Amino acid sequence: MRPRPPTDYLAGYPPALVQQVLELIEQGRFAEVLLKRYPRPHEVRTDGALYGYVQDLKAAHLRTAPPLSKVCFDSKLHVIRNALGTHTTVSRVQGAKLQSKREIHIATVFREVPEEFLRMIVVHELAHLRERDHDRAFYQLCLHMEPHYHQYEFDLRAYLTWREATREGLWTAASRTPPARS
Ligand SMILES: [Zn+2]
Repeated sequence: MRPRPPTDYLAGYPPALVQQVLELIEQGRFAEVLLKRYPRPHEVRTDGALYGYVQDLKAAHLRTAPPLSKVCFDSKLHVIRNALGTHTTVSRVQGAKLQSKREIHIATVFREVPEEFLRMIVVHELAHLRERDHDRAFYQLCLHMEPHYHQYEFDLRAYLTWREATREGLWTAASRTPPARS
């Protein structure tokens, strides 16, 4: 059975590039190609670990941006174009002061992906601390934090396309060989 991949994730990319991905998926070769490029998943398993991961990137590149009050994996986030993560500013009245609370939520699909994909989405959400819109300044900031930002985003979207066509995960615990026990 040939899976029929959805193309929404890759909308906006050059047709020739999208066609390459679709062919790899239809020929059943996509997983092999992507695993060769990204062999291992990252080790950021918990919300606490994610918080530390995000804080490290923020400290390296956006030290003066407003502090984050919360960072978490969020299973309620649907992975659609431009909604892989969310950044929210929640205003709460505390005493007489209006306090802004900034949160970053990352879709749970990012729990079991290579570190490059996690870094791409975190860089994206961090950039929103400075730039609200997806404009030139926004992407320049993303590229400043991760020079391969665009490549990782394309590969991630290709992966999401494959994942939806096959209903499998490439780096999920079940699909990995367990470590040998002595
Ligand atoms: Zn965005």
